[in-house]
Amino acid sequence: MIVTDRCQGCGACLLTCPERAIRPHGQPLLVLDALCTGCGECIEVCPADAIEESP
Ligand code: SF4
Ligand code: SF4
Repeated sequence: MIVTDRCQGCGACLLTCPERAIRPHGQPLLVLDALCTGCGECIEVCPADAIEESP
């Protein structure tokens, strides 16, 4: 997953990710692909539509 610059920093994805794969890293946030399972929960919870699937 990739957090784009649409991120508003609300933190909802950090709390939602079951793998704790999303980490504060300034803005945009950093997704650790080694931990991400691609479950898509972060995409659903993001109010800014800021998270996209990795290319
Ligand atoms: S849920 Fe969306 S807007 Fe909120 S911190 Fe995560 S990526 Fe940013
Ligand atoms: S797709 Fe799932 S595992 Fe990957 S960052 Fe989003 S919530 Fe976490």
